[in-house]
Amino acid sequence: MRPATSELKSARELGAWMSRRGLLSTGAKITSAMFETALELRALVRDYLQRDPVERSKDRDAIRSLNKALKLFPLVVEAGGDGSMLLKAAREDALAGLSPIVAQFYDGSRNGTLDRLKMCASEECRRVFFDRSKPATRRWCVSSLCGNRMKTRSYRERQRAG
Ligand SMILES: [Zn+2]
Repeated sequence: MRPATSELKSARELGAWMSRRGLLSTGAKITSAMFETALELRALVRDYLQRDPVERSKDRDAIRSLNKALKLFPLVVEAGGDGSMLLKAAREDALAGLSPIVAQFYDGSRNGTLDRLKMCASEECRRVFFDRSKPATRRWCVSSLCGNRMKTRSYRERQRAG
């Protein structure tokens, strides 16, 4: 498992990453300005997700970050033809493939799953994960790995302090 886009260093790498996930239309080119926009989306979304879900809605900075991110990838409503309505990217450039992230935020806020989207509490990890646990109280992406690492560390710190 690799953290989503944390290792992307260039527009070319972002293009390859999107391409592997079927998010890039053939022949579309990511410019360096687009690459910057994608990094900004990532940073703003992570800034929001790193906060405790309970705190997010009360935190003005968190809301501001999220709104900034959402603004970069506007959506339009499109009729599906079978009576359904879909949220589609308003962007028509190569970055349109990242707009579903924003649509997922919207869907998550409607069906109550947005609070389950979290960032791993482990400093080394900081991976974004979806908490499928029943009480939705998980703090680490792979508790057996990141959770143990954290527990060991706080144990050691307590030992040192004592
Ligand atoms: Zn983790």
